[in-house]
Amino acid sequence: MPGRLQHKSAVITGAGSGIGLESSLLFAQEGANLILVDVNLPNAEKAASLISERFPNVKAIPFKADVSKESEVEAAIALAVKEFGRLDIMFNNAGIMHPEDDNALNTEERIWDLTMDINLKGVWWGCKHAILAMRKNPTDESKGLRVGGSIINTASFVAIMGAATPQLAYTASKGAVLAMTRELAMVHAREGIRLNSLCPGPLKTPLLMDFLNTDEKKQRRLVHLPMGRFGEAVELANAALFLASDESSYITGTDFKVDGGLSSAYVTAL
Ligand code: NAD
Repeated sequence: MPGRLQHKSAVITGAGSGIGLESSLLFAQEGANLILVDVNLPNAEKAASLISERFPNVKAIPFKADVSKESEVEAAIALAVKEFGRLDIMFNNAGIMHPEDDNALNTEERIWDLTMDINLKGVWWGCKHAILAMRKNPTDESKGLRVGGSIINTASFVAIMGAATPQLAYTASKGAVLAMTRELAMVHAREGIRLNSLCPGPLKTPLLMDFLNTDEKKQRRLVHLPMGRFGEAVELANAALFLASDESSYITGTDFKVDGGLSSAYVTAL
């Protein structure tokens, strides 16, 4: 059985942990060659070793880059093109939730700027350099390889719902990811480049669990979750795989919610 991403090449940011790690494993299982970008190189290297053990038919190259730096993102994409001859999938997934991010009164400007630089500007750099590369993709219809590609930008459910436990810079950065992705999807639709946002609900990954470090904080959220549980990173990886593959070929500009029903809830079952 050919994999769902057979012959494709992908760059995944934040590949060393959480959604990025699970997506790296799943994309490799489905046949994609990968550049595993993370600011934490040892974690990207661990992801690459796992892939080479489990899926020896694909290539996964760890690459240290801070997504807020344009030259580093550009270098990661250039490496994909050099190694694999093309870029089909760009998963702009790296993001931070800073512990000092708070409400409008308490959030310091440096926290705002850092969050925007990584969560929003980092996604812009990824889109910019992926679009430039995808325009040049060589075609091979027998393998389903075309000009263009799929860009997936990780936003969040907080981009579409208000939370009374504020993280202002994070929320604003994710709202901007949704708006930017929609507009880019329209601008590049006729080039065969699809852009979609992924909107995870609250997940059991280090990003959120480091922050929800007491039972009280966890319960404050769990009561609002229709399924009564946090999501798993692999549940987001499955959604990212769909958006990355040709199965989603008529989907662009969408806010793809994978939130266990959270954003549809008024009251939840007991
Ligand atoms: P995670 O903390 O488990 O993983 C994030 C990865 O990004 C880490 O490996 C980290 O080293 C890397 N990273 C951080 N800053 C970087 C930078 N400047 N350059 C390159 N890499 C960097 O987090 P996760 O839960 O897997 O989150 C992934 C994405 O999902 C983020 O954009 C996050 O905002 C979003 N998200 C998460 C949740 C949740 O509940 N976990 C909910 C909604 C949205």
